[in-house]
Amino acid sequence: MSILTQLAGALSSGSVQVIDLTHTLDPDFPVIILPPEFGQCARFRMEEISAYDHRGPAWKWHNISMSEHTGTHFDAPSHWISGRDLPSNSVDAIKPADFIGPVVVLDCVEATENDEDFELSRADIEEWEKAHGKIPEHSWVLMRTDWSKRSGAEYLNMREDGPHSPGPSAEAIRFLIDERGIRGFGTETVGTDGGQAAHATPPYPAHYFLHGAGRYGLQCLANLDKLPATGAVLFAAPLKIKDGTGSPLRVLAMVESA
Ligand code: MN
Repeated sequence: MSILTQLAGALSSGSVQVIDLTHTLDPDFPVIILPPEFGQCARFRMEEISAYDHRGPAWKWHNISMSEHTGTHFDAPSHWISGRDLPSNSVDAIKPADFIGPVVVLDCVEATENDEDFELSRADIEEWEKAHGKIPEHSWVLMRTDWSKRSGAEYLNMREDGPHSPGPSAEAIRFLIDERGIRGFGTETVGTDGGQAAHATPPYPAHYFLHGAGRYGLQCLANLDKLPATGAVLFAAPLKIKDGTGSPLRVLAMVESA
């Protein structure tokens, strides 16, 4: 039997399950807030065109608008200045095979419970590899913090000195890119960087190094607690927006049932 025939059978029997890692697009879902001197990201908006009424007697539909970086979304290399001159750096130009790949999940829940500004280090990753093996090349690497279970003001967690949320250190991201050859890095928070990463060197190191190396970001992910540490396959295909720097998307993982 071919691999795809086997896969189709496994999907219909339930021995392979599809896990949705996406938040619902909703006007109340928080978007990143930058210092006031900068341009701002728009929330999701939806307006009714008709709803089986005089505006359209047999149909219902909506107009929607949002930022490329609203809700569960994809960051392309062109999102950051470090990736602006790379070839095929926008969502419409990335080759589609790049969207699908193996995924590993680094469990940082306990560390985040003890420290909202928890910074994932290279040593943490090496410790994870002792238990789960070396991160395969071209993997999606997801940082699980259970931050997706927060809502409202708790999600951005803004204080007088800015947002407080976990993220990777510059050294950890460089290690994943340079020594593990990852495809991209994903988080449950509003960005791939921690809330205080504006103060890092360089500022926003995950954005700077990932996109400078032609790698991708995923953020506002959910349901990472439903994924195994290794062995799942992730699908993260952004909308094909001309010259788009990112896109809301449906992120799906295929997982073998235990
Ligand atoms: Mn983004």
